[in-house]
Amino acid sequence: MDTKNQQNQIKRRDFLQKSAVFATSAVLLPFFSDHAYGASNRPKNNKAIPTVKLNNGLAMPVLGFGTYSLRGEICERSVADAIAAGYRLIDTASRYGNEIFVGSGIKKSGIEREELFITSKLWVDDAGYEKSKIAFETSLNKLGTGYLDLYLIHRPRGDFKGSWRMMEELHKEGKIKAIGISNFTPAQYDDLMSVAKIKPAINQIETHAFFQEKDPFNYFSKHDVRTEAWAPFAEGRNGLFTNQTLADIGKKHHKSNAQVSLRWHYQRGIVAIPRTVQKAHMAENLNIFDFKLSESEMKAISALDLNVSQFPEWT
Ligand code: NAP
Repeated sequence: MDTKNQQNQIKRRDFLQKSAVFATSAVLLPFFSDHAYGASNRPKNNKAIPTVKLNNGLAMPVLGFGTYSLRGEICERSVADAIAAGYRLIDTASRYGNEIFVGSGIKKSGIEREELFITSKLWVDDAGYEKSKIAFETSLNKLGTGYLDLYLIHRPRGDFKGSWRMMEELHKEGKIKAIGISNFTPAQYDDLMSVAKIKPAINQIETHAFFQEKDPFNYFSKHDVRTEAWAPFAEGRNGLFTNQTLADIGKKHHKSNAQVSLRWHYQRGIVAIPRTVQKAHMAENLNIFDFKLSESEMKAISALDLNVSQFPEWT
């Protein structure tokens, strides 16, 4: 083996050792094999984050790392820390203005590209067949990841049908492994499907205890489009981190409100992408695979639904 290869092997071993804290603490219990996700594959890196099979067969981690509002050094460091903690799915968007920092965080982690699941999104100003190609290539260059695992239409505005046509082509060329949508209602999805050749794999929407989107969730599930939760903690709005119902449930399992929330998303079959800049929170948010919410606990959380967005400024 040459020196460069040896150095790479050592770097990789160090990285895996650092990640081992999570790998040993999150035990996969037998009931996961038949939970809401169906059969779940172990990721190639043998980490304990289960994966879900998307409608095109691609395996996606059920828990990822959000990067909204993170920029510069803090973004780069948080992404590298998250990967070291065990996260493999990283969510960004051209709109966040941080793809370059996400890309350098990934490089800093030293992890192999194929072990990661990278999502970015096409912003509304770039909607349309021609513009979306340029926007995609710009995102990819900034991230420096060679290809994207998932590319989403960020919002259903402008010529999103033209964007979809281009995304289908980029998918066929192998530049994107799965394509999807974000913030689409069932009616907007139906409109897209009137011209689409490929069905979206994901719809990423605001979903948390206070805005559970039950009807859209059921609709998209029926159409085999996986729901992914943005703001799985509602960014802490409406007192999510101190909510008494979540706290009472958490007490029984020795878990925090954040962990109960993420476990609830998981048991609903929803992929969640919490954001944090704190290493302790990164580890806490991953530590949700060693307990199970009972049916009555799931019902108690279901009853917290206000059916109102906590982000009226974004609608
Ligand atoms: P979020 O994940 O619901 O909440 C983030 C907040 O929770 C941060 O302030 C963080 O603070 C805090 N937090 C994290 N873990 C915690 C814990 N264990 N205990 C207490 N506080 C904790 O909000 P979000 O970032 O808006 O949403 C997640 C991701 O979804 C985004 O980052 C982005 O990637 C994506 N997103 C997509 C869209 C879309 O339109 N598609 C829209 C919004 C967001 P600390 O840093 O101090 O831990």
